[in-house]
Amino acid sequence: MRDSLIAGNWKMNGDLASATALVDAILAGDRGAAEVAVCPPAVFLMKIGGMLDGSDVALGAQNVCDRESGAYTGEISAAMLKECGCRYVIVGHSERRTLYGESDALVSARFAMALQAGLTPILCVGETLDEREQGVTESVVARQLDAVVERCGGDSLGAAVIAYEPVWAIGTGKVATPEQAQAVHGFVRERLAALDADVAARVRILYGGSMNPGNAAELLAQADIDGGLIGGASLKAADFLAIAQSV
Ligand code: PEP
Repeated sequence: MRDSLIAGNWKMNGDLASATALVDAILAGDRGAAEVAVCPPAVFLMKIGGMLDGSDVALGAQNVCDRESGAYTGEISAAMLKECGCRYVIVGHSERRTLYGESDALVSARFAMALQAGLTPILCVGETLDEREQGVTESVVARQLDAVVERCGGDSLGAAVIAYEPVWAIGTGKVATPEQAQAVHGFVRERLAALDADVAARVRILYGGSMNPGNAAELLAQADIDGGLIGGASLKAADFLAIAQSV
């Protein structure tokens, strides 16, 4: 039995006042049975880590450097994220892959660094609309997973969370149907099972892409959907809590 995870990816939104107000509301609200995590902008991590201390809401970061320390201007190390109180870190979000040119190799190196520091990476995979229309969704997702397996080994995914995020559904209001999402989640789990059945059975696979209170229950009811990575709807406490309550 896998515990569901509902993680909010706040991206580059808000300010310190809105971030702390959002955390206050999440802490005060009914989070249902799910494990809940928030991934605020990096500059707010230390402050929000303090607010979450002693609660059962986990802290996550939105990215991590692929190096341990040194002359890497603008980057943030895994050790620094740990010091802020992070449990999770998103790696390979499609906005990083497409807007900032992060390759599969770089994503895998970031993933490795997170694991080495004891953070749980949330590895994002997913196809663009063009790739879906060309019928190559599975090969794209397989390539993104295989890059991590090649670098870190199949076991490594057992210490991670995977987020299937069809790029065409992120921030667009277009959501994958429960059947479309389940098909890819099932494919991911089968691919992992071919490497290690135990890892496949325990790894949590989140769906991300315009999840909201209206569509969450149906998506979360699918056999291989173990939670959600939520963008836009995670910025409104009521919506985020409603999604958590749908678990
Ligand atoms: C995301 O960016 O991880 C995401 C799922 O965004 P949204 O929920 O806004 O589509």
